[in-house]
Amino acid sequence: MARGQPGAATDRSRLAGRGAVVTGGGRGIGAAIARQLAARGAAVVVCSRTPPQVERVAAQLRAAGADAYALVCDVADPDSVAAMARAAQGRLAARARTVDILVNNAGIADSAPFSRVSLDQWETLHRVNATGPLLVTQAFLGGMLERGWGRIVNVSSVASLHGAPYITAYAASKHALLGMARCLAAELDGTGVTVNSVCPGYVDTPMTDQSLAKIAAATGRPAEELRAGLKAAQPAGRLITPDEVAGAVTRIAEDETGSIQGAEIAVEAPAHGGPA
Ligand code: NDP
Repeated sequence: MARGQPGAATDRSRLAGRGAVVTGGGRGIGAAIARQLAARGAAVVVCSRTPPQVERVAAQLRAAGADAYALVCDVADPDSVAAMARAAQGRLAARARTVDILVNNAGIADSAPFSRVSLDQWETLHRVNATGPLLVTQAFLGGMLERGWGRIVNVSSVASLHGAPYITAYAASKHALLGMARCLAAELDGTGVTVNSVCPGYVDTPMTDQSLAKIAAATGRPAEELRAGLKAAQPAGRLITPDEVAGAVTRIAEDETGSIQGAEIAVEAPAHGGPA
């Protein structure tokens, strides 16, 4: 049914009846994604490693009238992912919902000149940013395939599309995530389940704050000066907002017919304007 026709879904109900899991939903981009999915009627499970953060986001969503649940999960730990998947399916089943939408958003960043990338940094970033989405996707994919409908959205990065100085381990882990999505999209063709990648540039979140603080500590330059320089280096002279990334994720989740498959959507503020 086309939008605007009598009985067509409104923005507030386009995901009514759907269930969603958002990893890394305790702050930043993940919290914005959870808010947008919930605002469209989805029941949302948010998970991360820090209980007070996911509980706060879930409480905010419930206060706004949504069905929302907080779960603790380390996406890099197979046992933790299995326990989270069981709990998420149970919570949603109690509301007659299933996990129809999975947003693999949890991620970490770190930086170092190439010659100083430690094995620990390399492996930690790959475990969280690439192995984590593999494990979480495997946990929910079977149910989506059985039901013939699922929307998997990976929050990747522009660093999955090209390289840049000092982010070898991060960019490699995000390239791995993108490669995983490309292969899975090929396998999923015709199943009713889609996987797509949203690839943001620099976003105004705690992750970016932490990256700037680390560079400030290493160089002695004030974090605010570095932040101004980062903004000035962006096409629009500003950072992307979490809601802009969440908007792209939500549009894919709302794709009823599954016509968006294997897409890689860069989210970068336009050079010609937009909010400052
Ligand atoms: P934040 O650091 O603000 O939030 C990251 C979220 O992921 C937190 O909720 C964090 O919670 C969670 N998380 C981290 N590690 C794990 C883990 N092992 N298991 C479960 N949850 C985890 O980051 P952003 O919101 O900025 O980033 C979200 C995603 O967007 C990431 O994948 C990031 O790589 C990507 N991205 C970010 C950009 C940016 O400029 N900020 C640009 C491009 C992509 P906790 O630590 O409590 O577990």
